[in-house]
Amino acid sequence: MIIAANLKTNLTRSATHEYIKQLQTCVQNSSQEVLVFPATSSLDGYDTKITIGAQNAYPVEHGAFTGEIGLDHLNEFGIKTILIGHSERRHILGESQEFIAKKFDYFKEQGFKIVYCVGEPLAVRESSKEEMLTYIYNQYEGIDTEYENLVIAYEPVWAIGTGKVPTLEDIQDIHKELKKKSSAPLLYGGSVKVNNVKDILKVENVDGVLVGSAALYADHFCSMIQAA
Ligand code: 13P
Repeated sequence: MIIAANLKTNLTRSATHEYIKQLQTCVQNSSQEVLVFPATSSLDGYDTKITIGAQNAYPVEHGAFTGEIGLDHLNEFGIKTILIGHSERRHILGESQEFIAKKFDYFKEQGFKIVYCVGEPLAVRESSKEEMLTYIYNQYEGIDTEYENLVIAYEPVWAIGTGKVPTLEDIQDIHKELKKKSSAPLLYGGSVKVNNVKDILKVENVDGVLVGSAALYADHFCSMIQAA
């Protein structure tokens, strides 16, 4: 199982260091693969078996891209894992599928582990299943689905930060469809909590979870790692 935390724009550098410290005993006694994606300013300085990944980077070594970091910055921190295609970057930051695919290609060429996110907004969810799958499949456009260092995260946009979760049957159904597109490990994300993680992890074709708000507390995230 892969148990991943996306800390988003939360936890400062000192808070993240404290957080990772608190997780140490938890991961020491666990055979699960644990990933943490802290804020960019918190990427450096860990001695841990937890894999630290970047929430974002620009697909370039360095250059004139104000506000972004590039490959050189990640290399200096020893970061080899990146999150690409998160719905907040698609919908709030306006990243197009074309740009996301370019980013994917770049970090694939660099051998990064890529956690690639897909998922539909509510209006799409409320349309037919066929339309929903077409919407999600469009998010595979330009993506090498057979890349050996790929992990996919299915995160329905309407479930992120809302406390709403698809039924276990729905998760099973969509994961089954998505496995036809790629054999990569497939995580579920969207309002995963301590009290639902065990059931979600039991669903067929769920290979782990990507957790946002509930992972901000080390003890909660530790319970989820232990539940896996
Ligand atoms: P929540 O767990 O807060 O719903 O966020 C999920 C997410 O976006 C993880 O990437």
